[in-house]
Amino acid sequence: MTITEEKITLDEVRQHSREIARRFDLDYWREKDSKPEYPWEFVKAFAEAGWLGAMIPEEYGGLGLGLQEAAVMLSEVAGSGAGAAGASAIHFYIFPPGPILRHGSEDMKRKYLPKIAKGELLMAFGVTEPNAGVDTSRITTKAVKTDGGWVVNGHKIWITNAQNAHRILLLARTSPRTEERPFDGMTLFFTDLNRERITVREIEKLGRAAVDSNELFIDNLEVRDDEVVGEVGKGFSYLLDGLNPERIVVGMEQLGLGRAALEVATKYAKERIVFDRPIGKNQAVAHPLADSWIRLKAAELVSMDAAALYDAHQPCGPEANAAKFLGSEAGFEACDRAMQTLGGYSYAKEYHVERFWRESRLLKIAPVSQEMVLNYISTKVLGLPRSY
Ligand SMILES: Cc1cc2nc3c(=O)[nH]c(=O)nc-3n(C[C@H](O)[C@H](O)[C@H](O)COP(=O)(O)OP(=O)(O)OC[C@H]3O[C@@H](n4cnc5c(N)ncnc54)[C@H](O)[C@@H]3O)c2cc1C
Repeated sequence: MTITEEKITLDEVRQHSREIARRFDLDYWREKDSKPEYPWEFVKAFAEAGWLGAMIPEEYGGLGLGLQEAAVMLSEVAGSGAGAAGASAIHFYIFPPGPILRHGSEDMKRKYLPKIAKGELLMAFGVTEPNAGVDTSRITTKAVKTDGGWVVNGHKIWITNAQNAHRILLLARTSPRTEERPFDGMTLFFTDLNRERITVREIEKLGRAAVDSNELFIDNLEVRDDEVVGEVGKGFSYLLDGLNPERIVVGMEQLGLGRAALEVATKYAKERIVFDRPIGKNQAVAHPLADSWIRLKAAELVSMDAAALYDAHQPCGPEANAAKFLGSEAGFEACDRAMQTLGGYSYAKEYHVERFWRESRLLKIAPVSQEMVLNYISTKVLGLPRSY
């Protein structure tokens, strides 16, 4: 089966991506996590099958598939045991290019999207700053206009892929923040990650070690006018366009991770004999796993409902936020229960669940925290007053 057929079904997407992802076993990921080392072989396998360009239109070298297909594919990636590391490595070719696809110039799209789809161009996404936190309106990285371009100075943190990325999608202030319109006046640039002007410092972290996270110190970085994405001052609104699809897919990645943990725990519960019987015979062991299966299934239904709305160009903010929230909770809980099932062995790296558990914690925090999801539902859906 190939993915260039007329119309690929979701079952075929599941089967195809599962087959590629499961060529890489749990020991591969354990080694990548321990070293740590970027999973290039894994990315290459997905690039060769065309998956990195899943949502890039065919005219720019992609597959032109919808969000439902991308969500199923990334859930299978995480669910294979590749976890958040494997999912992030593929995810970064699919979501960060969104603003370029929707708002970039024709030249920008023709030049870069086919390279992203083939896996020849790795990009980083530079939004978060140490002193702004989840209030992006407070970023202080600043771009100042010059003849034919801009000069950028500032400080970014937690930037994924910056060790190897060729280019960066960078958010900077191009006019001062005002209380009336705090999110105006920020501009997105898509530019070379010029290491003569950007110092990259890797952050040692809890999980997803195979995929690097970095602090960036930007010192007089020169950016050309034709590297501005869309219009000057509208960068934040372009990021907003991409939030719903990303939240839906993150929910699906997280529930994939929960399923990977459940797979290991279930096998262990059948095999581990204590008090002359498999531990899975005890309801105290079996029921939490069964409960997690149900919660993961429910989270999947919400995510796929949200993805179908998005693909049908319907509003899907509440559903997308619910998908991210439920996937993150159910996925983390399944990983935590897998830890309990494996008892002391859960602490041993060779049993893999500790890696799932560490990685699943991340998705409750990034790319958006559970609290900010609840803030969205409280204010936008329930109409409660804003608390911040
Ligand atoms: C491994 C990793 C990879 C990442 N990759 C990238 C990347 O590639 N590019 C990028 O730009 N960023 C990236 N991030 C950043 C990530 O998106 C942020 O860390 C995340 O949004 C949280 O921001 P913060 O850490 O500054 O939290 P803070 O703003 O300091 O918040 C701390 C806590 O307080 C809560 N909080 C704050 N204000 C409120 C409020 N009003 N109501 C309720 N709760 C509130 C938050 O939810 C959070 O739990 C990454 C982060 C990690 C850990």
